[in-house]
Amino acid sequence: PRQAGAIVRAAFLRFFQERHGHRRLPSASVRPRGDPHLLFVNAGMNQFKPIFLGTVHPRSELAQYKRVVNSQKCVRAGGKHNDLEDVGRDTYHHTFFEMLGNWSFGDYFKEEACSMAWELLTEVYEIPKDRLYVTYFGGDSSLGLNADEECRDIWLCLGVPASHVLPFPLKDNFWEMGDTGPCGPCTEIHYDHVGGGRNAAALVNQGSPDVVEIWNLVFMQYSREVEGNLIPLPQHHVDTGMGLERLVTVLQNKHSNYDTDLFAPILDAIHKGCGGPRYQGLVGEADIGAVNMAYRVVADHVRTLCVCITDGIYPGLSGAELVLRRILRRAVRFCSEVLHAPPGLLASLVPTVVDVLVSKNCYIINENEAAFLSSLERGRRIIERTVQQMEPSMDFPAEVAWSLYGNLGFPLDLIDLMLEEKGIRLDSAAFDELALEDAKVRGTLQLEGENVHLDVHSLAQLHSNNVPVTDDSPKYAYTLG
Ligand code: ATP
Ligand code: MG
Ligand code: MG
Ligand code: MG
Repeated sequence: PRQAGAIVRAAFLRFFQERHGHRRLPSASVRPRGDPHLLFVNAGMNQFKPIFLGTVHPRSELAQYKRVVNSQKCVRAGGKHNDLEDVGRDTYHHTFFEMLGNWSFGDYFKEEACSMAWELLTEVYEIPKDRLYVTYFGGDSSLGLNADEECRDIWLCLGVPASHVLPFPLKDNFWEMGDTGPCGPCTEIHYDHVGGGRNAAALVNQGSPDVVEIWNLVFMQYSREVEGNLIPLPQHHVDTGMGLERLVTVLQNKHSNYDTDLFAPILDAIHKGCGGPRYQGLVGEADIGAVNMAYRVVADHVRTLCVCITDGIYPGLSGAELVLRRILRRAVRFCSEVLHAPPGLLASLVPTVVDVLVSKNCYIINENEAAFLSSLERGRRIIERTVQQMEPSMDFPAEVAWSLYGNLGFPLDLIDLMLEEKGIRLDSAAFDELALEDAKVRGTLQLEGENVHLDVHSLAQLHSNNVPVTDDSPKYAYTLG
């Protein structure tokens, strides 16, 4: 189907990558790196925090990015953004969700960010404009911040009627990653699930399940210091986040995230595993603590458990691990006491969860395959032609291998393998020279002293993993004794 979760995700990534020149990056792990105050990755921007703060090494790969798009695995349980208590009570807060995001690092700002978002929602996804409401920062006198009238005017220029452009205070329209760190005024897009010509402005940001926030566009301009004051960032950035599950709900014409193809197979599997009544959808207050809520909680929590365990966070006794243990125990309680499930139900859901989340993996693999197949064919022909022209005892010329590696994206180990199959060796000393020259030109390698010998396989791996090679990189990663 045209609006299946995996397709919606792919369309987002492609829109920013192909139409608007963003570089596509993979999701980071949900386990935060180098941020001791964060339990889980809670937003797409987490991995870019050093860019916002201006602390990134200027020659690193990260510092080269101007426009980025990705889909980030997020967990919001514990910490500043804690949604655990809402899960199961409503139909649009999860402990684990995917955040689709686009970024400008010192590149475009408010106008382009808003207009790209509007273009995607109304032209690509074809969401009716009259169902959308946008909010902007209404100012805060205690912090001496003015209302973001520039943002309001941008929306009006894009044709959003004034009755759908609403100011909100700090609490709603000033985004902060944590108690300290990058922050700024934001503008949010909300969707009215009911429609029918009514004016739903009064329901925006009121916690109504009928009008739900789908996308947040943050204009990163400040850093919140430990003392609570704001200091301006060296550059202006855009950081956006849209919940995939909420977007898919809109596009599949559902009212609840649990009725989309991202959750329905898991709910079915729960039913198969415990018998009893089927999931009925949200039935209001009567749900609390009852079967329908249990279905939602278990489906949510098992996704979170799968993702966290995959990323190396196990249920345990402190920090994120303790939070995961609480999530697991909540799920166990709902399974056994509300759904009367036999022991083992939770684990039995794992293949279904993997299936749902892995449809993404199938997509990524297919897209990558498509991108490489034609290069593979060209490269194979180049290798064959070169081999035909070679003297019997010659090594494979480094320039050709370098071109396969650099221009056609052949991993070095693949080149080695394909040559080995023909009984030929690469002239690796000459290849190392080329790689070394290239690394110097790109400024990705810092040589200390004369005797550093480049381990080119490691360098290639660092390149392909987008790991910046900087002064602080462990030396063993690119040197051999
Ligand atoms: P809400 O007000 O609904 O709690 P938020 O303002 O806390 O959302 P942001 O921090 O602005 O959310 O995150 C960006 C987007 O991520 C949201 O617009 C929403 O689509 C999605 N999102 C946020 N929290 C969740 C969650 N717990 N479950 C699913 N999606 C979420
Ligand atoms: Mg929230
Ligand atoms: Mg909000
Ligand atoms: Mg928000």
